[in-house]
Amino acid sequence: MKKFNTVEKGAERYVTGTVEPYDQKNEMFKRPFWDPKVQKLGEKFYIEGVPPKDQPGYRLYDKSLVDASWTLENSFGGSITGDTMGMYSWEALKGFHDTPTQPGAKLSIDNPAVVTRQIKKAATFFGASLVGVCSLDRRWLYSSAFVMTREGPKIKEIDVPEDINSVIVIAIEMDYDAISHSPTSPSSGAVGLGYSKMAFTAGLLAQYIRKLGFKALPCGNDTGCSIPMAIDAGLGEMARNGLLITPEFGPRVRLAKIFTDMPLMHDKPIEFGVWDFCMICGKCADKCPSNSIVEGEPTVEPHNISNREGVHVWHINAETCFSFWAQNGTDCSNCIRVCPFNKPKGCLHDMVRWSINNLRWADRLMLWGDDIAGYGKQKDPDAFWI
Ligand code: SF4
Ligand code: SF4
Repeated sequence: MKKFNTVEKGAERYVTGTVEPYDQKNEMFKRPFWDPKVQKLGEKFYIEGVPPKDQPGYRLYDKSLVDASWTLENSFGGSITGDTMGMYSWEALKGFHDTPTQPGAKLSIDNPAVVTRQIKKAATFFGASLVGVCSLDRRWLYSSAFVMTREGPKIKEIDVPEDINSVIVIAIEMDYDAISHSPTSPSSGAVGLGYSKMAFTAGLLAQYIRKLGFKALPCGNDTGCSIPMAIDAGLGEMARNGLLITPEFGPRVRLAKIFTDMPLMHDKPIEFGVWDFCMICGKCADKCPSNSIVEGEPTVEPHNISNREGVHVWHINAETCFSFWAQNGTDCSNCIRVCPFNKPKGCLHDMVRWSINNLRWADRLMLWGDDIAGYGKQKDPDAFWI
């Protein structure tokens, strides 16, 4: 069964004019460190926080789950802070003991298709749920990086060498059950665990590529925007909720990427009916607690500086979204939880995915069926622990 159609245009299909590289300092999580307009929000989210309370999903054992889930990203990653450190180091990682590699050893590549298949196998072996490869479109790199250090924020130049021409994009599935408890702590735990797995998987894949004699620059959210690269690599499409929708997991993924000079085969972008389905759906807009997702048509009009200019999409209002996070004391995944593309694995769900792709006239029927079946409803946070 053919699952989806390949198309020529990747993220370019959403571009309406000239797209300038995005400055990372305008990203919502960075703005509180320099933009007076959202400074108070940042203090509430990053410094004051919301202590555990006697409420399902917000108790000490719920909030501790979130903190523990982030451990690998926070201690050995750093993609959130915007730096290339730890598992995201651009240099080979050295341990107490490294298997010796012959100096100058390099895999000879007679057949890029075979090597690409091996790299994808290694990526899934290390933990990737999905993997795609595209050429590097430098428009998606940040114009500069905004790095948080112990001494304070720093602006850093983005320096991806000229001979880097491919991007391996990996998607990490987040736990379906945990996300169904959004916006309470179990769903935030799934997000934190997703970030920790990103660092682990990207770091190990980068190390593997270096052992083959090629450059590998692993990145999480740093260095460039992951969603357009994932679209170019054939992992999914852009949706109303501002996220990538994959055919396999819907928006329930986190993304990381590895820039490399390895000669790899590039995947084709895909199209499987997300745009048309979003036009008639709007569940994410309806269930967003901060009204940050627009109803109606996509537009080129940004809400504020956190939106990228020159693209025709459904822009998310990151200021109001972040405001809800600060008040909630943890993040939110309602726009993932309620999306009809967010389904667990199974034959029935494969059939629904096939219908959305192949029977566009049945979109409204699918939407109705989703409501009747009760998908997307928030589960009792206490039920997570049973
Ligand atoms: S994360 Fe939550 S608050 Fe933010 S856009 Fe999604 S649903 Fe709305
Ligand atoms: S909930 Fe509906 S409108 Fe929102 S992203 Fe999913 S399919 Fe699109």
